[in-house]
Amino acid sequence: MRVVVVGAGPTGLFTAMALARRGHRVTVVDRDTGPRPDGSWPRRGVMQFHHPHALRAQVAEALQAELPEVWDDLLDAGAEPVTAAPGPGSLGAPAELMAVRCRRLTFERVLRAAAERQPGVVLHTGHVDEVCIDRGRATGVRTDCTTLDADLVIAATGRAGRLGAARRAPARGGDCGIAYVSRQYRLHPGAQPGPMNFPLGRTDLYPGYQSIVFLHDNGIFSTVIARSSDDRALAALRLTEVFEAAARAVPTLAAWTDPTRADPITAVLPGGRLHNTYQGQLDDTGAVGLPGLVFVGDAVCTTNPAVGRGITTSLLQARQLVRLLGRDPSDVVGLTLAFDAWCSENIAPWFEDHVYWDAEQRRRWGGADIDLTRPLPSDLIVAAAQADPALFDLVGPYLGMRALPASLDAARPRAAEIYAGGWRPPVPDGPTRDELAALAATYASTSATP
Ligand SMILES: Cc1cc2nc3c(=O)[nH]c(=O)nc-3n(C[C@H](O)[C@H](O)[C@H](O)COP(=O)(O)OP(=O)(O)OC[C@H]3O[C@@H](n4cnc5c(N)ncnc54)[C@H](O)[C@@H]3O)c2cc1C
Repeated sequence: MRVVVVGAGPTGLFTAMALARRGHRVTVVDRDTGPRPDGSWPRRGVMQFHHPHALRAQVAEALQAELPEVWDDLLDAGAEPVTAAPGPGSLGAPAELMAVRCRRLTFERVLRAAAERQPGVVLHTGHVDEVCIDRGRATGVRTDCTTLDADLVIAATGRAGRLGAARRAPARGGDCGIAYVSRQYRLHPGAQPGPMNFPLGRTDLYPGYQSIVFLHDNGIFSTVIARSSDDRALAALRLTEVFEAAARAVPTLAAWTDPTRADPITAVLPGGRLHNTYQGQLDDTGAVGLPGLVFVGDAVCTTNPAVGRGITTSLLQARQLVRLLGRDPSDVVGLTLAFDAWCSENIAPWFEDHVYWDAEQRRRWGGADIDLTRPLPSDLIVAAAQADPALFDLVGPYLGMRALPASLDAARPRAAEIYAGGWRPPVPDGPTRDELAALAATYASTSATP
């Protein structure tokens, strides 16, 4: 089968290579020209490229299953798998992989280099303007310089992709109301990482904002401060002086970014709008909008990146699409319907989880207490395990994305009881939101950066 994949991001490259290894002839088209000879890669059009990425175990599993030597390449490039120590009853079972410390830049460079070497895959640079249609079926794509024929067009065009937009019902969701500012640093040779409270780094949730550190590959880490997008006072965090002052004021960020431990290697990076969106394959009437055109990856589902679910939901989709194509590639309508049904069941719940969680988070960041008259959002159910460790068994599979958000229902009554009893998640040491806003105002007035 001739396949055109539009988009050479993680989803497009992974899907293309997996299909080529099953005998399909695949052309991947992207407007991006790839890394420059000096190794830098601005990656315009993918705003998150230089923001922190954490890779969940499912990403490693996808590579190990489909592209095992690419997994080896990733390790050679410095990516660090994080494993959980085997428990007492594990009888010598291997340690369980939990996550991979790796920059997006490192991950995508390795994937792209592998795709360039992959027999059966051709990488083509160009902007795809439209899908070609003949007798009601996709027959290829037209780029700014050529036409590429295909039996199947896969749109892995990411969260901002517009290709084929009119062929499916509008996306559900939208802006998640949370904004990011981040910066990358490099640990000095021999310096130890700073304080950690999860396998990839450190997260501290304050009433009004969140600070996160993600440890990546090769001694590089990112710091993040997340806030409500409508908190105008904290918008000044995008200014270098303000971000640096905040990093000195928040104790765990201060420990990580202490100049004796690490130096910044990027500018302060303001994040664009963060979305929670889900858009299936079907049109407003519930039919396949254009047989032969399938959407995958962020083009289907995008979630607030605070807990790093995007590449996992993307590669889970890619693997399912490849599986379905292995059954009967000629039945493109059946394939699309089956893929859409699978995504509705297995991917949409992660979107719905974030929509509710983020709305509740913003409400609490605005000063409201936990509302026990409404269902508890997932983050509060998870947090309640600090008060009752027996809940860990119930929330663990959800945290690892091994069980869908509905699995938290079993923990819900006990978590509600804990909050009704007056327990609240402990607030870490550090500035309050108002103190951070005051500090932002002070440094913004003296800031040299625009
Ligand atoms: C701030 C931020 C932080 C994130 N952090 C994490 C994290 O920690 N962990 C995690 O798992 N996920 C994270 N994500 C999500 C992750 O980045 C996405 O899930 C991932 O990029 C999806 O890959 P994709 O290949 O589907 O889309 P993309 O990476 O967006 O790639 C789409 C590609 O399509 C190309 N394209 C689009 N339209 C056209 C066209 N018409 N013609 C030619 N080319 C086209 C684009 O140039 C681009 O290369 C984060 C997202 C954001 C916004």
